[in-house]
Amino acid sequence: MTRGRGRPAQFTADARQRFLDEVAAGVRLANAARLAGVHHNVPARHARTDAAFAQALDTAKRRGRAARQDAIPHDESRYNHLKCRCGKCRKAATTARAGRRATTDGQVHDLDAGRKSPTSFLLPLLSSETSRTAA
Ligand SMILES: [Zn+2]
Repeated sequence: MTRGRGRPAQFTADARQRFLDEVAAGVRLANAARLAGVHHNVPARHARTDAAFAQALDTAKRRGRAARQDAIPHDESRYNHLKCRCGKCRKAATTARAGRRATTDGQVHDLDAGRKSPTSFLLPLLSSETSRTAA
């Protein structure tokens, strides 16, 4: 496709379809535009005047996002961030947690060890209770 100076290449039906196909496949918008042979701002501009294209673009973007998520490997990160609960992700997350736990074993601080008298914060309460009884 040759592009002269001045006016940008027309966003033909073929180019639009190619663009939408790329977006639906998970290609980023700017790259999809380049693959369709148009400047990256052309599709968005076209969507403003072509409601059918705008709608098709929304659908393609949604499919594209899903496609990109599907491409993310099933591991602990997917378990945590995408809430994938498939067998593979569960196993990866469990294994990773177990590994982290094992490395901190023996370094766990006993939270009660340094605590001052556990009754000290109860004293005001107790004394008000006593004064009420006394009254
Ligand atoms: Zn998974």
